[in-house]
Amino acid sequence: MQIDIEGRKSVEALMAGGKRLLEMVAVGLPLLAVLNEMLRLAEELASGCRCGISLIDPDCMKSLRVGAPSFVQDRTEANRNHGNDESGPCDLAASLEAPVIVPDIASETRWSPAWRERSLADGRRACWVAPVLSRTHEVLGSFALYSPTPGNPTPFQRDLMGELAHIVSVAMERAKMDLSLRRSDESFRAIVETTPECVKVITRDGTLLRVNSAGSNLAGSPDPAALVGACFYDFVALEHRDQYVVFNQEICSGKTGFLEFDIITLHGERRHMETHAAPLQSGDGSIVQLGVTRDITARKQAAEQLWKSAALMVKVEQISLSGSFCWRPSSGGISCSEQLYRIYGIEPGARITMDIVTARVHPGDRHIVDNALEQARDGKDLECDYRLLLPDGTVKYVRMQAHATFSSQGQLDYIGAVQDVTERRQSEEALYGLRAELAHVSRVNGLGALSASIAHEINQPLAGIMTNARILVRLLNAEPPNVEGALETAQRTIRDGHRASEVVNRLRAMFRKEVVMTDTVDLGEAAHEVIELLRSEIRRKRIVLQLKMAGDLPPVTGDKVQLQQVILNLLLNAVEAMQGVGDRPRRILVRIDRDDSDDLCVAVTDTGTGFEPENADRLFGAFYTSKREGMGIGLSVSRHIIERHGGRIWATSDERFGATFAFSVPCCACPVLDQDGPGARCQDARAEMGVAMRIPG
Ligand code: ADP
Repeated sequence: MQIDIEGRKSVEALMAGGKRLLEMVAVGLPLLAVLNEMLRLAEELASGCRCGISLIDPDCMKSLRVGAPSFVQDRTEANRNHGNDESGPCDLAASLEAPVIVPDIASETRWSPAWRERSLADGRRACWVAPVLSRTHEVLGSFALYSPTPGNPTPFQRDLMGELAHIVSVAMERAKMDLSLRRSDESFRAIVETTPECVKVITRDGTLLRVNSAGSNLAGSPDPAALVGACFYDFVALEHRDQYVVFNQEICSGKTGFLEFDIITLHGERRHMETHAAPLQSGDGSIVQLGVTRDITARKQAAEQLWKSAALMVKVEQISLSGSFCWRPSSGGISCSEQLYRIYGIEPGARITMDIVTARVHPGDRHIVDNALEQARDGKDLECDYRLLLPDGTVKYVRMQAHATFSSQGQLDYIGAVQDVTERRQSEEALYGLRAELAHVSRVNGLGALSASIAHEINQPLAGIMTNARILVRLLNAEPPNVEGALETAQRTIRDGHRASEVVNRLRAMFRKEVVMTDTVDLGEAAHEVIELLRSEIRRKRIVLQLKMAGDLPPVTGDKVQLQQVILNLLLNAVEAMQGVGDRPRRILVRIDRDDSDDLCVAVTDTGTGFEPENADRLFGAFYTSKREGMGIGLSVSRHIIERHGGRIWATSDERFGATFAFSVPCCACPVLDQDGPGARCQDARAEMGVAMRIPG
């Protein structure tokens, strides 16, 4: 009876002790504390036995220190391999995964004599071991009772061993779990510490619980610990604070979110932030905010800068109605500004190819664009004017300019702009029409006035001569003839005849001007200046003009202005010859080179209407014209000027279309300065030219 009460008390004590141990495990007390308490309990209940716990998990052992009332041993692989004497029955129990009972160590021969002697010397006579197994039957170590007397364990002692071995396994699993949590926490901390983003944990009321170095640096504090406990809201710029408080409360209510806001650092600097936040359960169970915040100040400033320049570009583009583009001829890639899409009437953002672009060029101006594309093959800068014909029938006048750039690898790219000049061109057109009209009227008026004055001046003496002649006839027919009167009348007739010839001489004197022909003229430069003068006219008529000059041309001696007048006449005639030409490219080629006689030759070739070959000589005659409003003076004046320079002028008509008008002058011209020869004619013609020349506006 006595025994039963003692036995029950032991069982109850074991149950209470086991419960206490499990509570220690549950609240997370260190493994060593639990095991030491277990050893104390076991030795208290196991009636004089001593107790030992061997662990073979290296991770757990790191957190243990041996030195309990009895002992806790490290049973790692290393210890066993080095033949630790204490290892005998414990290892066997572990490897068998079953209890090992050694009733009498003195007669035990399974292990070394040294082990036996040490055990006996230590007062251990019997040894009973239970393996410590995890839930997955992994061996974690062993739990041993050492009795000072030989024999087998009592049933209670067996229960005690089993129960405590089980609690050891629970405590070890918990210890392992704590360790792996600690490790993952450490690696998490390491990640958080090394990340360049600011990582922070803040409570619902804004208190900073944790912040990494990046975060404290950003706030302007060298030590993250110094910020813990501070109110994060104090860092948020005033105008964003309310918004941030609401955001934080939403996160702390379990939502995830994103927010952009500004902070003011401890140095008073404003920084733009972007944060991604998620709720996190803190140690006390409350929900806090885990926020990853990035400094986007530089990005925002760059974006703002970009936006400003883009806005500026759009504004410039809008004012000048021009759009910009980049074109890489090798790949055909084109990128355009929005304004350019609008000019070309293409849906913004649509893929642009050269085919799409050229399809919108007016058929009458394709050759201009083709010519520019041809020049692009040589990497030249491009500039041309052409019309667009949009699908809805709208016609636009545009001017394209593109600059060639080469990368270090020799890659050719064009950067250019297309300007819509429709309005300007329309007003130019109207102005030109008006000017042409005015010029014609003043020309006609001028001629009219000139003829009236000539008629008036000559009519008077002629009328006098006619009257005198009639009187003379009457006087001589009288009976008898009045000879005296007739003589007087004849003298008046002679006087009137002189008056008429004086009028003619006066007219000639009026148109005569002295000509200085000793200039050294660079014909190439002279031609270039004329072309510049005509450029807008040529552009207006959508003609492609090319100037080809041989190198190293010597100068000629002569009158630069007169030679330029000839070139101007030839060019204007070429331009006019292409009026109405729509079935072929309108081109003018000006070539300057030496001819077979070493004279300098200027040839103007056009793709215009041409002329009948049999008319070739008549063209240079005065007043020959095939034009409704032509004067027929330009070529005859040109011939006089060229002959006066000792040169010649001629024309050839192309078999298919177009003509070439050319002149040649000696490199060292010897002009003839006579009064009544070709030189005088030239002077007369030059005077007439003021009427005949059409200078484009
Ligand atoms: P206008 O131009 O006033 O007719 P010009 O003396 O300059 O006077 O020209 C005389 C004529 O020569 C022209 O009317 C035209 O028939 C012919 N002609 C001149 N240049 C060309 C040309 N490039 N192509 C064809 N015919 C031309």
